[in-house]
Amino acid sequence: MRSWKGIPQLNLGEATEVSRIDSDFQTVDTGSNLRTVAEIMKNGGGIDIDIEGMVVDIRAGSGLIKRCPLCKRSILSGVCTMHGQVEGTSDIRLKAVIDDGTGAIGAVIGRSDTERITGVTLEEAEAMAARLGEGAVTGDLASKVLMRRVRVSGNVTIDDFGPSITVRGLKPVEVDVESEARALLEDVEANLS
Ligand SMILES: [Zn+2]
Repeated sequence: MRSWKGIPQLNLGEATEVSRIDSDFQTVDTGSNLRTVAEIMKNGGGIDIDIEGMVVDIRAGSGLIKRCPLCKRSILSGVCTMHGQVEGTSDIRLKAVIDDGTGAIGAVIGRSDTERITGVTLEEAEAMAARLGEGAVTGDLASKVLMRRVRVSGNVTIDDFGPSITVRGLKPVEVDVESEARALLEDVEANLS
């Protein structure tokens, strides 16, 4: 077993013998892939992990971006690091920071999830950028996701910058503000008495 960016990997070499197990074996079905950031930092990343927390920051590289038509990497000023000068194609994404109370994780949110959570389509974002500039688009998207509670799922890696998740599914989590406030108040009162 080795690991790549915190994801455990099983390497099968030529000398490895793989045999099929005919008997049923027990798999642990927790019914949920939900992990806390603290658990990820302790146990490493992995595939198909769910994280639930609040969007506390939106980082540079969010909003309208251009991608190389050949390799799909995001490009700056029309230049791909692999392919040189290219005619970039438009895309929209969010680089968010999600805090679940145990820690923070970077989340790269692609076009479809970005459009769904913000209610702003790529076409609308481009129209807004033509009128008000790209900075206005990023600000508008940020205002629609900041301080919202979300549940994201995807593959989690850990590198020098900390843990990050490449989001393949995102849904907003409805928060009952009143009951959360009541619970908080009860906590405070319990601590005072
Ligand atoms: Zn390229």
